[in-house]
Amino acid sequence: MAEIIYLEGSGKRAELPENLFLRFMCLEPTRKSFQGFANLYGTLDCGVEEPVSAWQSEREAFRKAVFLWQFIEGTTGIPAREDEDILGMFPDLFDALEDEVVDAGVLALELFPKAGWTVEALGAHSMLHGIVSDRLRDRMEANLVSDFDRLSLRAEPFSVCTAGKMWLQLTNAVNEKWKLRKCHWCRTPFRLKDPRAMYCSPSCKTSAIRARRAKK
Ligand SMILES: [Zn+2]
Repeated sequence: MAEIIYLEGSGKRAELPENLFLRFMCLEPTRKSFQGFANLYGTLDCGVEEPVSAWQSEREAFRKAVFLWQFIEGTTGIPAREDEDILGMFPDLFDALEDEVVDAGVLALELFPKAGWTVEALGAHSMLHGIVSDRLRDRMEANLVSDFDRLSLRAEPFSVCTAGKMWLQLTNAVNEKWKLRKCHWCRTPFRLKDPRAMYCSPSCKTSAIRARRAKK
């Protein structure tokens, strides 16, 4: 029997934290942990029942996308701090994707010879584009927004399903060149805004303080 994730109850879901795609990527790939996520944020495509295998493949796609994104960012050097070494989270993907990245890079270099990027960076970007575009297909919609100050129009993408929302989060993160740091408590990467920040959420900070007190 296929393992299933159920959409439980109806109505309100927790508000999505901006790094939900990173939290999703860090979930253990088990039915239990996926169901816990679904209880908080809904199923990936608003399905009443979704196979665990689909969740596993979505999680893997996020891991690949974040790896490629961080690989591009990392071509400028090795991070000085262990908690900012996001690429170190994907030891399996280095070998698995290396050849594919170079192949995609050679192809991209022919198309964009003047971009000034390394073959690896171009290849990783082109693969990242492929994954995100594939995953956003049929999940993304857009609103046409009027700006009455400038009398201009612009399209604003959105998604009704949790998976689409997370892929848009990732797109936004790549676009805005987020700096990431791993939470010192749960190890989930979060967007670094304050250089002193060590935790992804107030609850992780509280847990860390409690644990420190308990040790004393
Ligand atoms: Zn945390």
